[in-house]
Amino acid sequence: MVSDRLQLISPSATLQLNARVQELAAEGKDVVKFGVGEPDFPTPDYIKEKAIEAIEGNKTTYTPASGIPELRKAVCKKFAEDNGLEYEPSQVLISVGAKHSIYNAFVALVNDGDEVIVPAPYWVSYPEQVKLAGGVPVILQTTEETDFKVTPEMLEDAVSSRTRVIIFNSPSNPTGSVYTPDELAALGAFLAEHGIWAICDDIYEYLVYDGAVHVSLPTAAPEMKPLSVVVNGVSKAYAMTGWRIGYAAGPTDVIKAMGTVQEHATSNATSISQWAALAALEGPKGTVEEMVRAFDERRIYMTERLQNIPGFECTAPKGAFYVFPNVRQLIGQKMDGRTITDADMLAEVLLEEVYVAAVPGSGFGAPENIRFSYATSMDKIEEGMDRIEKLLG
Ligand code: PMP
Ligand code: GLU
Repeated sequence: MVSDRLQLISPSATLQLNARVQELAAEGKDVVKFGVGEPDFPTPDYIKEKAIEAIEGNKTTYTPASGIPELRKAVCKKFAEDNGLEYEPSQVLISVGAKHSIYNAFVALVNDGDEVIVPAPYWVSYPEQVKLAGGVPVILQTTEETDFKVTPEMLEDAVSSRTRVIIFNSPSNPTGSVYTPDELAALGAFLAEHGIWAICDDIYEYLVYDGAVHVSLPTAAPEMKPLSVVVNGVSKAYAMTGWRIGYAAGPTDVIKAMGTVQEHATSNATSISQWAALAALEGPKGTVEEMVRAFDERRIYMTERLQNIPGFECTAPKGAFYVFPNVRQLIGQKMDGRTITDADMLAEVLLEEVYVAAVPGSGFGAPENIRFSYATSMDKIEEGMDRIEKLLG
């Protein structure tokens, strides 16, 4: 029998879907994959070459648990240049992906029973990580009306004497919303006044479109810097999801505590991947820009196609690589002899009937929505949209 704590934990909706897609593919089904969100581009050659050099140079032993000094220094430079945030290498921790960085931060900050505000729609892993760390996720529902954004007034209602942390994600997975500097400054002022910590998940930092700019919360609200752990990584920006490198920066004592968690759980992130991540951070930015241009074209195309399918309601997202239509109008309709009872069932019908994989919204705290990732080729997007239109037509 598993522990009481684990009985409260749901499996990851994104990774579960990915597993089902792989099963269908193994059966020879031609699945159009809008499910798990990862760039479809290969890791750039200049990064791969440094990893090969690391292997050949026998950089294959344990590293300091917190990461190689060269990479921690490069992360400081990145934060200073991109975000105007000054950190010492001792305030930086290299982990096994941003997911791991966020988990370390929850474990280091949350006491048993502490409340963590999780704005919904949320990335699937946040509430489960909070529970694993002994905290209580307090879901703060947002809707299309505020562009899925939290306001200080909404925070006021969610805060209690047990509130310890808010998890904050802009650009957002799954909604694609991007907070403006003014919105961040207002939220930051409220959080600082109440002494609430922020874990800022900036993983989609570079993936912004249509004039939107990413600004980190403590950049817009400097009073939040002593209360913020800023998380980022190389997965999305450099097409390095499988290499598993993320990083966090924040006040020395919290980063040190996160390092202690990591020392006992995993030791260092893979040595070779750390050298590859160093090459990514120090390398030219051209490939990132090319990827963003390609995502932008796909974003516009996919949004338009979805908007033209009766029953799918969405606006064009400003960041990340997801479109998140509301499908409430399709609930109650008959499809292939079945009555659609919720968005999850619709997603299941799309997958099982026309082999289009998209993640049902319930895992994100949005039971009326479905998430489509456009981190795939234009041809696939066209094919997937055609199949949905045909099914619903
Ligand atoms: N945060 C968000 C919002 C994400 O979508 C992802 C992607 N899985 C991550 C964190 C984690 O990224 P990784 O662990 O690959 O660095
Ligand atoms: N960020 C991706 C997604 O949400 C990766 C899957 C995951 O790590 O959950 O689909």
